[in-house]
Formats: sequence, C-alpha cells, structure tokens
Amino acid sequence: MSNASMETVPKSLRNLRACLLCSLIKTIDQFDYDGCDNCEEYLHLKNNRDTIFDCTSSSFDGTISMMSPDDSWVAKWQGIKKFKPGVYAISVTGKLPNSIIRDLKASGVPYQSRDRSQKAGEQ
Ligand SMILES: [Zn+2]
Repeated sequence: MSNASMETVPKSLRNLRACLLCSLIKTIDQFDYDGCDNCEEYLHLKNNRDTIFDCTSSSFDGTISMMSPDDSWVAKWQGIKKFKPGVYAISVTGKLPNSIIRDLKASGVPYQSRDRSQKAGEQ
C-alpha cells in the first residue's frame, strides 16, 4: 500500500454524495472545499453548495475504490480510467441539470448518465 496523499478518499461516511458526471464519492464538505477532482473545470462545485446539490447525488449504489486507474480493469469497465484515484459509485441516481448538460455538450464533453437503476429511453 502506498501512502500517497489520498485527497479524494471520503473523509467520513456521513453526508456522502456522488458526482453525477464522473461518480466520484466524497463528503459534501470535500466537494465544497475542493470541488470535484475530475469535473471541476466543467461543474464549478467549489464553494458552491447549490451547484453541489444539483450536480451530485446522495443516492448511489455500490462503491469501487480505484487506486491505480491505469491497470484497473474495473476502471476500464466503468469508463473511469482517466479519472483520479478515489472511491466511485457504480450507479448514481439522478441527472445533471439540462443547462449543465448543454454546457458540457458545447465543450465537447460526452455526458453519460451514471444511473444504472433504470434504463430510460428518454434523451
Ligand atoms: Zn465529477
């Protein structure tokens, strides 16, 4: 086990939320202090509780701890290979606000719902 700094690991099991874009799980305070480690440049969660509530969800299923994305088949399977090491949800319930999805599209960022609980055909 390396003891590289693990800023992305949830510091507590209370008030956990998962990012709707990348499924990273952290406490609401961590999102508040640092934003999302993968999506901050698009979501701007830092110091912005309203956006955190819009863009993260407290309802998620299953967790994956990803320590070395480069050689993790789980990371590949989840499509999170390019993301920072951390704890990720397998399924996140909820959807990003339409305005944000539009901004992502405009920046060329593919948004794929992390909600695997239902496969709605709605687009
Ligand atoms: Zn994210």
